[in-house]
Amino acid sequence: MLFDDPEETETIASVMVPVAVPGPYTYRVPPGVHVQPGMIVRVPLGPREVLGAVWDGEPDAAINPKKLKAISHVYENARPLDAELRKFVEWVANWTLAAPGMVLRMVLRSEEALEEEPPVPGVRLIAGAEPDRMTSARQKVLETLADGRAWTRSGLSHAAGVSVSVIDGLLQQEVLETVDLPAAPPPPLPEIDFAPPTLTPAQQAAAEGLVESFSKGTAVSLIDGVTGSGKTEVYFEAIAEALRRGRQTLVLLPEIALTEQFLRRFEKRFGVYPAEWHSEITPKARARTWRGVADGSVRVVIGARSALFLPFENLGLIIVDEEHDGAFKQDDRVPYSARDMAVVRGHLSRFPVILASATPSVESRVNADLGRYNRFVLPERASGAAMPDLKAIDMRTEGPERGRWIAPELIGAIGEAFADGAQSLLFLNRRGYAPLTLCRTCGHRFQCPHCSSWLVEHRFQNKLVCHHCGHNESIPQNCPSCTSTGSLVPCGPGVERIAEEVENLFPQARTLILSSDLPGGPDRLRREMKIVEEGGADIVIGTQLVAKGHNFPKMRLVGVVDADLGLAHGDPRAAEKTFQLLAQVTGRAGRVTGGGKGFLQTYSPDQPVMKALLSQDRDAFYQAEIANRRAAGLPPFGRLAALVISGPDKMMAEGFARAIARSAPPESTITVLGPAEAALAMVRGRYRYRLLLMAPRQTDLQGYLRHWLAHAPKPIKGLRVQIDIDPQQFL
Ligand code: ADP
Ligand code: ZN
Ligand code: ZN
Repeated sequence: MLFDDPEETETIASVMVPVAVPGPYTYRVPPGVHVQPGMIVRVPLGPREVLGAVWDGEPDAAINPKKLKAISHVYENARPLDAELRKFVEWVANWTLAAPGMVLRMVLRSEEALEEEPPVPGVRLIAGAEPDRMTSARQKVLETLADGRAWTRSGLSHAAGVSVSVIDGLLQQEVLETVDLPAAPPPPLPEIDFAPPTLTPAQQAAAEGLVESFSKGTAVSLIDGVTGSGKTEVYFEAIAEALRRGRQTLVLLPEIALTEQFLRRFEKRFGVYPAEWHSEITPKARARTWRGVADGSVRVVIGARSALFLPFENLGLIIVDEEHDGAFKQDDRVPYSARDMAVVRGHLSRFPVILASATPSVESRVNADLGRYNRFVLPERASGAAMPDLKAIDMRTEGPERGRWIAPELIGAIGEAFADGAQSLLFLNRRGYAPLTLCRTCGHRFQCPHCSSWLVEHRFQNKLVCHHCGHNESIPQNCPSCTSTGSLVPCGPGVERIAEEVENLFPQARTLILSSDLPGGPDRLRREMKIVEEGGADIVIGTQLVAKGHNFPKMRLVGVVDADLGLAHGDPRAAEKTFQLLAQVTGRAGRVTGGGKGFLQTYSPDQPVMKALLSQDRDAFYQAEIANRRAAGLPPFGRLAALVISGPDKMMAEGFARAIARSAPPESTITVLGPAEAALAMVRGRYRYRLLLMAPRQTDLQGYLRHWLAHAPKPIKGLRVQIDIDPQQFL
């Protein structure tokens, strides 16, 4: 809000700035400039200039306007952030206890988007002009331009089949002139009836239910369908309904590597590609999506979690695919769950939200059981293919010989699949060659100098790498501790080592590693995903990347190299996460053709999670897990929050963590546990201690924390307190 009285006072305004301060700052508005809440501006902040947004609430009129800094620029061409988005920013800040400016920063992600896209320089023929000398190359250029239309230089050089220097020569002779070509036209609209599918009865019922939810305003629906049941086809019908109603749709995916396949499927159904939003697109494409979302010309966006903060003109549907996936939780800066905040955004703006998964989170499943969410069940695969047969391989009795990782029975099954021309997938959630390297002579282990974690050998890069901070070093010839030569041995397998074993076993097979850290980056990964999809690889070795949502029609066999990995942590969701990951990854087998097989290599085949997986009794697993959580008061029946206290000095960090813990106000319903040294005791040179808060569901945990931290000792000398509401990581 502002006061606008040119005679008496100067105009001032509240501006939210993208830094960690409790609320908006007050700025002077230059004469002749008019601002309203939501307008995007540039303001001086300390020694620099930052983007901000004019915010709600009265500015602080008590400050002498002479002392205020002035707004330096108003982005007149950018649509102001609407009241609903501003409310959402405040809501997320309140929930996560992050500064609202830090949440706003996630909205203002593309400075380029705030100005109109600059025109593209082009060339055209000057009527009647002639070159001094005609050549055949020049002739081709003039013929191409004969209709008077303008071209970009590179487009023209392509079309006329001449080099750019020919065009530049004609420009110099003033035969051609430069003109501004309009920037890209608005994207083509998705066609609702481009290629509607014939749905199975279960899919049809789910699709109708989703369409109905639009008339109910706020409604959250869970599509709970086995892998390959057609969840995507079903929620496409909800997108069609949003399009019919003239509303925009946001589809959130947990993994960028999934977008390629999604784009193609969307195009098959709606005739055009949707817009994309994630870290791998160019700044220009990013700016276009931001603008198109804001002016309404973009109807459907597919994106990573940060797309939730785009300034939609008329958002009417959010779909969170693979809603159980941990990647929807951001762990740094503003620790938020994109799934949960999607539900909030839908609630604030009264539109439906769809969560889809073959292995829903316990939270969503409970919400559905209690009737807070609609639940649509797709119990069968769309192709009619049966779910894969699953079998445990007891590594205590049926394991491979020492120094090998694939059991004889699994090798036999891979061989059979290969002989039949079917694909196999070996899954191991460990990047690199070996998770630990040690010296056989003196026992020296390679540890990261900045973190309490072992260095992982990456043989392709010939490096030892820390997976927590990225520190890397070359693999030395001699042991740095005892100087022995040739004494270093890799311990345990990563995907690279499994690939090596596979190549030795099946030298004729086409082997491919799918892992996020191989050279070539996301482009290579996209290409390789496509190769697998099209059957161009026989044996795929992959990390959790392959567990997510992919449709590999020729995949018949899935072998889980280490099914026990992930069960050992002090994480209350360890069983759930293991169940989800392994059900997802084995679900890649036989999706289209049936006859799928899955093997779980495990040292504890009697573990409840293994038993639930093997019997494929999803409901039994959920019932047991829900009962455990209820009994222990864990989410969603209780609430958790973590405080991570860290600092460059161990003693100081520990002492400060204790001081914070002592200052916790007594409250009968809230338990404060710790401080305990974090499982990852040091990361990037910072020592870490954790406090965990547990409380019944109804508790205002944020209110309690706010009060506590307002009165707690303040961090000094590089100490930091990070709050994580509903933590997903317990490291
Ligand atoms: P989910 O998302 O549940 O894993 P998908 O939507 O990827 O399943 O569907 C799995 C496969 O089955 C895809 O190849 C999809 O095109 C196909 N499919 C799903 N439903 C139908 C249908 N009604 N008719 C024909 N093919 C279908
Ligand atoms: Zn040694
Ligand atoms: Zn490190």
